[in-house]
Amino acid sequence: MTITAPFDNTYARLPDAFFTRQMPAPVRAPELIAYNAPLGALLGFSQADDAERAAVFSGTALPEGAAPLAQLYAGHQFGNYNPQLGDGRALLLGEVVGKDGLRRDIQLKGSGPTPYSRMGDGRAWLGPVLREYIVSEAMHALGIPTTRALAATLTGEEVIRETVLPGAVLTRVAASHLRVGTFQVFAHRGQTDALRQLTDYAIGRHYPDVHGPMGLLLAVCDAQARLIAAWMSVGFIHGVMNTDNCTISGETIDYGPCAFMDEFHSDTVFSSIDQTGRYAYSSQPRIAVWNMAQFATSLLQQMDDPEAAVEEATAIVHAMPEQIETAWLQRFGAKIGLAAPAPEDGQLVQTLLDLMQAQGADFTNTFDALARGDARDQFVDRDAFDAWAADWRDRLASEEAPGAVMQAASPRIIPRNHRIEEMITAAVAGDFAPFERLSSALADPFSTDDTGLMRPPTEAQRVPATFCG
Ligand code: AMP
Ligand code: MG
Ligand code: MG
Repeated sequence: MTITAPFDNTYARLPDAFFTRQMPAPVRAPELIAYNAPLGALLGFSQADDAERAAVFSGTALPEGAAPLAQLYAGHQFGNYNPQLGDGRALLLGEVVGKDGLRRDIQLKGSGPTPYSRMGDGRAWLGPVLREYIVSEAMHALGIPTTRALAATLTGEEVIRETVLPGAVLTRVAASHLRVGTFQVFAHRGQTDALRQLTDYAIGRHYPDVHGPMGLLLAVCDAQARLIAAWMSVGFIHGVMNTDNCTISGETIDYGPCAFMDEFHSDTVFSSIDQTGRYAYSSQPRIAVWNMAQFATSLLQQMDDPEAAVEEATAIVHAMPEQIETAWLQRFGAKIGLAAPAPEDGQLVQTLLDLMQAQGADFTNTFDALARGDARDQFVDRDAFDAWAADWRDRLASEEAPGAVMQAASPRIIPRNHRIEEMITAAVAGDFAPFERLSSALADPFSTDDTGLMRPPTEAQRVPATFCG
């Protein structure tokens, strides 16, 4: 028996220029670590035992209807254009149309080399696979658009990084894997027909109601603006906002060196490769606009009247900072109890953030405490908080249910970096209990009972840097 799913592979029907067909490499000893049963059921994957799932989700056996391929894309990495990236260690198995009527990509990550692997081995090790599983599913539970995790498997093979590590494969689910970089590769090569085809495909798949490339640009800017505000509202730092990691769907993708902040500081950077802080917490809005400027540029050559299009595209991209500001105010207004914040409420939020930064207050715990009426204890200088809180209470007087608004906007727990590190260390030693604990608590981040996961790291537990894997 093999696993079945309602595959319908539209990307595989695009011209050859878009991808290279490639089979996953079978692995020595497939072993199932985790299977996301509710997601599998939503997608329409058939029942199966662990061994069958291990085989399929490690790339050792193909599910019926899959047509594996590596997608071509390019991208700006830390601001420098790389003319060819592509799926170097991932394969699109195909698309399924789920029980909710939505089409989603099923992708294996870590499934062996492809023509786009360059110097890489096409493999992933257990740490980043479990990190992505936990963080992407946590983002979903937080209500933030994201790719998801269907399965994680061990390969029984070794992966060489700085040391020898256990190999693993993640099965990623996405609205699609179309990126800004997918458009860039055809634009830079001057393949205007392919660019047109890609534009139509992206509109049909994600924004069927919009008209033409500029309509698409507007829709993606809107989705990205809301996404960045959502990240900011939970203290999330993506860490590697290259244009190949910026989706057309508006989902978060590529959980490499990402991390959630503990104590609030707007300059926070975790990624070990981000030497200049290009992708720091507070730089994310600016970088999202930069990425959309690259997207706009890549769309232009297909336009009948390029000069008029430049003007229109410029206006769309220039409107984005204000869109992000509006989305930010909505998210952060809710975090202080305002269901419909006005522009002048931004200062009240900013003053609180400034206080938090000056006193090193924990981001998640401060907002959680605010929602529960005991935020004062989060501050060393309580008088400073009291002064802010007096203004805040005045403003809240006219609100109907600020407590409920705050509790819906601020999670109790997030996947803290030190917990992820601890979970990975345990998993490498064969203990998956910390993985299971994080997985189950983070499925319910707004009301979990597992309040032990609220604790910030001690100095000894602190994880100052994250790596790409
Ligand atoms: P990322 O930093 O994850 O966005 O990846 C950037 C590019 O490097 C993509 O083209 C990946 O497919 C490729 N890549 C990353 N890791 C590997 C690997 N271990 N083997 C082959 N290609 C890789
Ligand atoms: Mg990537
Ligand atoms: Mg990556």
